[in-house]
Amino acid sequence: MNRFDYVRPATVSEAIAAAALPGSACLAGGTNLLDLMKGGVLAPERIVDLTRLPGLSAVEHLPDGTTRIGALVRNADLAHDRTFAARFPAVAEALLSGASGQLRNAATAGGNILQRTRCACFADPASACNKREPGTGCSAIGGENRSHAVLGWSDRCIATHPSDFCVPLAALGAVVELEGPDGRREVPLADFHRLPGETPEIETERRPGEIVLALRLPADAAGFRDHARYLKLRERTSYAFAVVSVAAMLRIEGGRIADGRIALGGVALKPWRAREAEALLAGAEPGGDAFDRAAEAALAEARPSGDNAHKIELARRLVVRALKLAAAGTPERVPALPGSPFAPVPEGSLHV
Ligand SMILES: Cc1cc2nc3c(=O)[nH]c(=O)nc-3n(C[C@H](O)[C@H](O)[C@H](O)COP(=O)(O)OP(=O)(O)OC[C@H]3O[C@@H](n4cnc5c(N)ncnc54)[C@H](O)[C@@H]3O)c2cc1C
Ligand code: SF4
Repeated sequence: MNRFDYVRPATVSEAIAAAALPGSACLAGGTNLLDLMKGGVLAPERIVDLTRLPGLSAVEHLPDGTTRIGALVRNADLAHDRTFAARFPAVAEALLSGASGQLRNAATAGGNILQRTRCACFADPASACNKREPGTGCSAIGGENRSHAVLGWSDRCIATHPSDFCVPLAALGAVVELEGPDGRREVPLADFHRLPGETPEIETERRPGEIVLALRLPADAAGFRDHARYLKLRERTSYAFAVVSVAAMLRIEGGRIADGRIALGGVALKPWRAREAEALLAGAEPGGDAFDRAAEAALAEARPSGDNAHKIELARRLVVRALKLAAAGTPERVPALPGSPFAPVPEGSLHV
């Protein structure tokens, strides 16, 4: 273990001042940061422990209809918050699909959105990795890459973002609240994570010294509560990262889709909001044809980055299945979550 300084600021301003110093890393639940330090991937000079900061641990349903999730709210606490889960069932379902019970008890909302890729070469200091060490090359290209990206990748990096939580948040139009040396600002979650392009080492829109204060869901996000699902395909149901995942949410009025939202996980270096597919859903009858067209559109730009062409067809089918299950209605009992992609779609449920 390398030597490092440890500071525990008492206020957000103190935390920003410490986080802005070169070589600092913020600590929340530590489930990602500490693993990477132990593995020799990261060696920060200073750990800025955010866990005692006041005011970042609440879930608030505000008078203007928005919902604010403090950055230090634990993943498990959020998933089991009854009011929150009733308003945003696909978010609860995504949280419960992620990691294990122990990890969800420690992991925070802010840490989840800022977790690093699970590319095995990134986690192995002996492998070349443009993200870890710019300019060294990408060992995953031509290497072990069956779980890598099929959308938005570049010849510098083909990694994916591993978060489940981010996927329904992107579909619902969540924003990230940040505060840094230049003050407060907001960034839509769907724009917060960057695609790799020429600079895979720049992962998010977060600027040096900025602290994530909260995530905010807009007032219209609870309008999808009756038809909302998150499906995650993984190699081991007990716990594993997504091979592919889909958040599908519908607002149905008079037998037609008034608003449809789709985002995919495990396919790109960011949660992938499928806006073209959403446009095809608007005004359509919920059912087979519309869902097939939406799935085609969601994956229209997809191409394998290596030994992973199977992910494209898996993703297409999972979009259709998630839409069908969403149209059938959110399960009444939140403990029925998380859903399995292998669960049967109820008979006659496609035209609600
Ligand atoms: C075995 C295992 C399996 C897992 N499976 C899944 C899974 O299936 N799905 C899934 O989504 N995740 C999974 N995870 C990842 C887990 O969800 C993340 O590690 C966790 O959410 C990170 O939260 P944390 O609070 O522990 O973050 P930390 O490890 O403390 O921090 C992570 C990063 O965020 C930064 N950070 C944290 N909070 C802030 C803040 N408020 N402001 C600025 N920067 C901040 C840190 O500096 C660091 O860079 C798994 C993890 C493990 C170890
Ligand atoms: S895919 Fe990205 S993270 Fe993985 S080795 Fe290549 S550059 Fe590094």
